[in-house]
Amino acid sequence: MTRQFNTVGVVGLGTMGAGIAEVLARTGITVVAVDVDEAGLARGRGHLDHSTDRAVAGGKLSSDERDATLARISYATSLDALAGVDLVIEAVPERMELKAAVFEELDRICGPDVVFASNTSSLSITEIGVHTGRPGKVVGLHFFNPAPVLKLVEVIRTVVTEPDVVTDVVAFAEGLGKSPVVIGDRAGFIANALLFGYLNHAVRMYESRYATREDLDAAMRYGCGYPMGPLAVLDLIGLDTAYEILDTMYHQSRNRLHAPAPLLKQMITAGLLGRKSGRGFYTYDGPDSPVVVPDVLTPVASAEGEATREVQRVGVIGTGTMATGIVEVFAKRGYDVVLRARSEEKADAAVGKVRKSLEKAVSRGRLSAEDRDAALGRVTPVVDFAGLADCDLVVEAVAEELAIKKAVFEALDEVCKPGAVLATTTSSLPVIECAAATARPGDVVGLHFFNPAQVMKLVEVVETISTSADVVATARRVCLDLGKVPVHCGDRAGFIVNALLFPYLNDAVKMLEAHYAVADDIDNAMKVGCSLPMGPFELLDVVGLDVSLAIERSLYLEFREAGFAPAPLLEHLVKAGRLGRKTGKGFRDYVS
Ligand code: NAD
Repeated sequence: MTRQFNTVGVVGLGTMGAGIAEVLARTGITVVAVDVDEAGLARGRGHLDHSTDRAVAGGKLSSDERDATLARISYATSLDALAGVDLVIEAVPERMELKAAVFEELDRICGPDVVFASNTSSLSITEIGVHTGRPGKVVGLHFFNPAPVLKLVEVIRTVVTEPDVVTDVVAFAEGLGKSPVVIGDRAGFIANALLFGYLNHAVRMYESRYATREDLDAAMRYGCGYPMGPLAVLDLIGLDTAYEILDTMYHQSRNRLHAPAPLLKQMITAGLLGRKSGRGFYTYDGPDSPVVVPDVLTPVASAEGEATREVQRVGVIGTGTMATGIVEVFAKRGYDVVLRARSEEKADAAVGKVRKSLEKAVSRGRLSAEDRDAALGRVTPVVDFAGLADCDLVVEAVAEELAIKKAVFEALDEVCKPGAVLATTTSSLPVIECAAATARPGDVVGLHFFNPAQVMKLVEVVETISTSADVVATARRVCLDLGKVPVHCGDRAGFIVNALLFPYLNDAVKMLEAHYAVADDIDNAMKVGCSLPMGPFELLDVVGLDVSLAIERSLYLEFREAGFAPAPLLEHLVKAGRLGRKTGKGFRDYVS
């Protein structure tokens, strides 16, 4: 017979425990909440009051429902209060000895049939289980933060968890309105195992001053559509919790990418734990507040180099998707654009593509016919490089091959007027190679637009060791003028977005390859647990597996990081011609 969990104990009323207690009480379950002392309880209660008040203000809960919800929760500072519950969910800090002590005590207090669940993010459920006399009744029940909002719940079974316990806990989670996924006991489970390597990598980038916190976060929000950037996510999770999760993952995987970045430890030691302490990577207007306030690290406009170069006439080289998208963006904004193609036919076809795209905007009511005509009127196709002589800025968007790009920069060096800014939109080649092909490396910068350029707001402004400060400042100013979000980074493989994104996608392939979880569950976990717009396999199939493999190879070649080595499964799929949506088959099969 199915177990009914009508009364549930929640141990630890912190970030997660308070959220879990709210989810339970809102579903009509009686909750007994335990924390170490009155201060812990007061903090948890504050969380609950605040969160349910917000739900009332947002029209998601009536005030009567809020009162009934809060009345279902009783509070205690001793685990003895849990003697009569049907299920215990533990959410104390992420330390094995602490969790072990809690469960040893609970084992004496609770009846032998009571099910024990841990909300641990990474610790071994098997190990927790053996600290009790009922390892068959111990599961992981991993909620996501904020628990009242995020639907994913990972249910972790060990080799000894009784199958009916898993079934009943899954039914219970479904009854809470959650989407449970059942998986085995491996550090980080699905979502954290994939998320934390990425978060840690972002901390390392920040630590090495590769990019500012604002730019790192903006890159992932505007380049990938993530709801939050990695450093803001770490502040939400809590840096102490994040450190423990990474440390546990590292001890199990011995993967250097999981070794917590030293900066995390320093921040924790200094009491910067993230939102819960009012300061982490960002400063908040008080403990537990989501509102970021300016601090000494907040960028100020006056600290930027001066954008001394006037830009009115822009050259774009190439006729592909990126080139025509970039032409459209500049022309729409009122710049005179010289489009350079290798032949007149290609030039005509490229202008035709721009026209088609502008016409689409008109038919959707986003652009007037006059603006379309004006934009097209600003585009001049040329075949000779000489046509770019009087451009103030030239953006190269030809094929992603170094020899071709270098030849373009040599040609630009010959024809362009002194002081022109020369930009490449390469996504994976070193910008310095393009700069070195000219006698004016100070004028060369990376301007990495995202596809489709008309839609995606992000532009990575890549500075080489030679780029002049006023060229970077000019590039940023132009991006802002185009309505884009420029982020500034150094000249390293993958810049910000691809360097953070592709190792994570690669880890997902390795997880699939290891048969830890199936593609649907992995995609679902990342979408539902982390609010990402697409799961890793969906995204890989859209980007193209050949393109993804090429980016992963370039990251691996540059950083020689063992964890970046492309997953053999990806190599095999590419070899077999399964390149994703464009070939109808990738990780999944598609019907055209
Ligand atoms: P937290 O530091 O916000 O809260 C922990 C709470 O446990 C505090 O209120 C503390 O007073 C209390 N506590 C400490 N020792 C206790 C004891 N012996 N008995 C009872 N209460 C005790 O931590 P958190 O972020 O809520 O993490 C709790 C668990 O949830 C961890 O295992 C963590 O890995 C996991 N988790 C965290 C997140 C997240 O985003 N923060 C997400 C999912 C899971």
